Amino acid sequence: MRTAVVPQAIRDWLSKPKALLIDGKWVAAQSGKTFEVHDPATGEVIAHVAEGDKADIDLAVKAARRAFESGPWARMTPSERGRIIHRIGDLILQHADELASIEALDNGKPKAVAKAADVTLAADMFHYMSGWATKIEGKYINISALAAPGMQFASMVRPEPVGVVGQIIPWNFPLLMAAWKLAPALTTGCTVVLKVAEETPLSALRLGELILEAGVPAGVVNIIAGFGETAGAALAGHPDVDKVAFTGSTEVGRLIVQAASRDLKKVSLELGGKSPNIILKDADLSQAIPGATAAIFFNHGQCCNAGSRLFVHKSIFEEVVEGIAKEAAKIKIGHGLDDGVDMGPLVSQVQYDRVTEFLASGEQEGARAVCGGKGLGGKGYFVPPTILVDTNPGMKVVREEIFGPVLVAAPFDDADDTLIAEANNTIYGLAAGIWGKDGGETQRIANRLKAGSIWINCYHVFDAALPFGGYKQSGWGREMGQAVLANYLEQKAITTRIG
Ligand code: ADP
Repeated sequence: MRTAVVPQAIRDWLSKPKALLIDGKWVAAQSGKTFEVHDPATGEVIAHVAEGDKADIDLAVKAARRAFESGPWARMTPSERGRIIHRIGDLILQHADELASIEALDNGKPKAVAKAADVTLAADMFHYMSGWATKIEGKYINISALAAPGMQFASMVRPEPVGVVGQIIPWNFPLLMAAWKLAPALTTGCTVVLKVAEETPLSALRLGELILEAGVPAGVVNIIAGFGETAGAALAGHPDVDKVAFTGSTEVGRLIVQAASRDLKKVSLELGGKSPNIILKDADLSQAIPGATAAIFFNHGQCCNAGSRLFVHKSIFEEVVEGIAKEAAKIKIGHGLDDGVDMGPLVSQVQYDRVTEFLASGEQEGARAVCGGKGLGGKGYFVPPTILVDTNPGMKVVREEIFGPVLVAAPFDDADDTLIAEANNTIYGLAAGIWGKDGGETQRIANRLKAGSIWINCYHVFDAALPFGGYKQSGWGREMGQAVLANYLEQKAITTRIG
């Protein structure tokens, strides 16, 4: 893969030291250490970033605590807070091109996709959440207080910010995941220490600059780049963090819960998936085929909600698989900064090894690759779109989350209990897709699937107003929508004796 032309403005920005945001200032790590960030399309080093660890997390948590307990943020009205959060969204849109370039270079995704999806949705998350700042309401309750006969009380329930929040995010949508986490925490009046993924720290660091420009007071948002086992673990177990919000793998989710359990911090988790995508026999294949292609191959399959298990009615199985393979053949693979590229590399050597090991295991267990099936090798971490057939439910490629451009496809007889049982036969429950013309049938299936998001005749439709999160081992709590506010609020019941 040739080196793409990196815009001059991005080169200038990258050439400046990449520090940690603590208490409103950009600072080097206490240890003085930095780590390399790579362009996944070439493997070349694009930046050196300060490597935060426990000492930096301690400083950031102290700053966040101070900002939460005193200072301008603690005194700010919801209206002022909302306006600042809205301004962050505006600044993201003003810097859309630049942010999309950074994302393409750091994560590998095509710049056009980063601009249309990641950047647009990140800005919208701040815009949408800014409106909630003035709409978080409590309750007045007429209580009966049976154990206090003859007395009268007035009770209210006051929502309050949970406090200092530790947020840990992954590398697949670096800017968007930062937005999903930061926007609701700020809306509710919390303060934050955000630990970004070591593979892709750059767009969140640029976002940190925009957050300061928007007028967020010092210490309210602290951003630490660093590794999971050091900075991440220190944050998840920090005694002065009130709540941990995590997005990432189910395995690390378990470690987060263990770390947070020592002092019973509040925890919300958005974890892995192995989502079923069902094509019924009456589906409009002109929609379902491209839809199923995007469901798995969007973002190179590096989506927790990817439609990675395809179930197709047996009467149209061959036609659909062939159709998806044809669509896959049209996907142009290349550097995310090059025009016309549809699919970039996987994010890292680690992910490349992981996905290609899954491909080898599929082959060993008897699955057949209709297209793709092997990593491209050479420079960069490219794996082509792959469809595996002749699978069975016991295979590793069918059971486990691959987090790469690998679809497993199986035929079904009738949309009966067996299909539902098979679709639900997973430890995960994040998303599902259903394609069909009979509205009653698609609804009935939707009602029986155990997943947090169901898309009928569409896929990957995200909106800041819609809750997103998982059943089963896909997580705890919801991101986005009104629902996410609960992650960051305590409910205080205040009772006054009035007679
Ligand atoms: P992925 O599988 O998508 O790489 P991970 O779950 O490994 O996702 O990582 C998601 C985030 O969790 C990253 O920011 C990573 O640094 C962090 N992380 C990894 N291990 C730990 C850990 N033991 N404690 C806290 N955070 C961790």
